[in-house]
Amino acid sequence: MRNLKSDFIYRLKDKVIEGNKITSEEALKLISTKDINVLAECANKITTTFSGDSVDVETLINAKSGRCPEDCSFCAQSSFNSTPIDKYPLLSHDKIFEQAERALQSGANSFCIVCAYKAPPEDDFEHICESIKIIRSKLKIDVNVSLGFMTLERAKRLKSLGVKRYNHNLETSKSFFNKICTTHSYEDRINTAKIVKEAGLELCSGGIIGMGETKEQRVELGVALSELQPDEVPVNMLLGREGTPHYNNNFISEKEIIQTIGTFRFLMPKTILKIAGGREVHLKGDDKKVLRAGANGIITGGYLTTEGNKPSDDFKMLKEIGIKQR
Ligand code: SF4
Repeated sequence: MRNLKSDFIYRLKDKVIEGNKITSEEALKLISTKDINVLAECANKITTTFSGDSVDVETLINAKSGRCPEDCSFCAQSSFNSTPIDKYPLLSHDKIFEQAERALQSGANSFCIVCAYKAPPEDDFEHICESIKIIRSKLKIDVNVSLGFMTLERAKRLKSLGVKRYNHNLETSKSFFNKICTTHSYEDRINTAKIVKEAGLELCSGGIIGMGETKEQRVELGVALSELQPDEVPVNMLLGREGTPHYNNNFISEKEIIQTIGTFRFLMPKTILKIAGGREVHLKGDDKKVLRAGANGIITGGYLTTEGNKPSDDFKMLKEIGIKQR
């Protein structure tokens, strides 16, 4: 029997499907609902209405690891944190190409070259551009990049090389940002996101939930992202890494994840909403539920400094729930 208290979720779903935006107040009601089954059902309906029943599958390579001069509190690659990770300079063209080839063989649609920089030094930027050229000339896979802050000139260069999408996360809400980072500002992040769009690249921008932000601040992040109109929004779930201020903080629940993803779907009906870092730990194999609750993308094969599911296991899971890869 239909729960009358959840009727507003159905009404908001109709509102979104008719092409209207929801307000921050409405998003806050959604993220606060206890009826996550109805939220999931309606978020999934919005996803399938606008994007069909398919999932975007991406793999990443950490092409330059650690020693980042920024102080992002959640990040294992910040030089302010003493997380025991493998730190290395920019990988050779061969190694980057090898990983792209492996991504293609594993069945992924896209391959993202990620580097831990505030912004890459000129020599490194040129090296990355050359790697992109090599991959694009030999492999049929979308190439995305994430290199930190961008100038318009550099973003246009990446576009001219055939890069599809540029990742630059907002990480969290503006009102929470100074709790997690003090070496750059929220506006710096917004600025790069806007440059990416101005250069004609697709924008991938998301954040991390579970860092101590409130549900109001999760809505604030969702609204800020929706204003940027990103093509893709990765939602990471914090893993409190050793050597970071968040060590031992792994407390986000599956319910909160579904509430956030479901609400983000109402705020961004057409974007690729990707469940990213932390899903293997926090969802414990329940990714299927979230892929029927508004999400329509996954990152497979591991993250920048943590392991993930094997692509073959993820493809098996997608087959089990009857969702195709885009
Ligand atoms: S700028 Fe990026 S790589 Fe550097 S510390 Fe922050 S999140 Fe990590």
